[in-house]
Amino acid sequence: MIVLNTKTQIKETVREIKKKGATIGLVPTMGYLHEGHGSLIKRAVEENDYVIVSDFVNPIQFAAGEDLESYPRDFEADKKLCEELGADAIFYPDPEEMYGDTFLSHVGVYEITTVLCGKTRPTHFSGVCTVLTKLFHLSMADRAYFGQKDAQQLAVVRRMVNDLDFNIEIIGCPIIREEDGLAKSSRNTYLSADERKAAVVLSKALKEGKELIDGGERDASKVKDTIVSVIEKEPLAKIDYVEVVDWDTLTEVSSIDGPVLAAVAVYIGKTRLIDNFIK
Ligand code: AMP
Repeated sequence: MIVLNTKTQIKETVREIKKKGATIGLVPTMGYLHEGHGSLIKRAVEENDYVIVSDFVNPIQFAAGEDLESYPRDFEADKKLCEELGADAIFYPDPEEMYGDTFLSHVGVYEITTVLCGKTRPTHFSGVCTVLTKLFHLSMADRAYFGQKDAQQLAVVRRMVNDLDFNIEIIGCPIIREEDGLAKSSRNTYLSADERKAAVVLSKALKEGKELIDGGERDASKVKDTIVSVIEKEPLAKIDYVEVVDWDTLTEVSSIDGPVLAAVAVYIGKTRLIDNFIK
């Protein structure tokens, strides 16, 4: 496995790969890799001739006051995992290499980026779409792999790729969880022992909501109320949002007729965690 630090290196590498007619799979990450990322890498290795994992904490998707500086990093561990899982390259640029000091362009996807996480993080998805556009171009990937863990991100990326005719296939992958149900996340490392125990309330609440739908409930507000009431019983939890939305447009639904996304963002202490299900 090779480490690519510069845009020139990745461009030269993929040009050679493409000359051979090989397919390229890209797994975009912010590093501090865990089994959730691992599941995407494994799938990419199965489905492509050459796999690139990008490992980049993208500064422009963090707002002032968010956790850009404290975001956990461990490149040596990331490299080891990627190698074990059969990735061919890690793209590990620094922010200066990605953006320089004269960067003036941003990619905008509207409406679906102002709901859910976009309400409290209004610049987040523009940062995500901009870095992904760069990574898609640099990697010349045929397919890119995303976790349903960040369901809104998956919906936004699909929309961007469709609207702007990117020549890349977006593959969504299931959420990987800890044994007690907590969705794996690099941010789980912020949790104290008590908070870690409390954090299980996200998946527990969503499970109850899902069971209601499975039992035939079609009233979205009842599903939402159930999820809210379970989370509110946990003293360390503070709800940012609980929403049941259409899984294509991300607009609120009153009746559950087509595919819906039930998504939550909850503060456990100071740590903001997200989780969801699609039904
Ligand atoms: P991140 O490094 O947090 O930006 O995540 C990189 C990719 O890994 C995104 O597509 C995430 O949705 C995905 N991912 C993160 N956690 C999980 C998880 N628990 N299960 C599946 N995919 C995940």
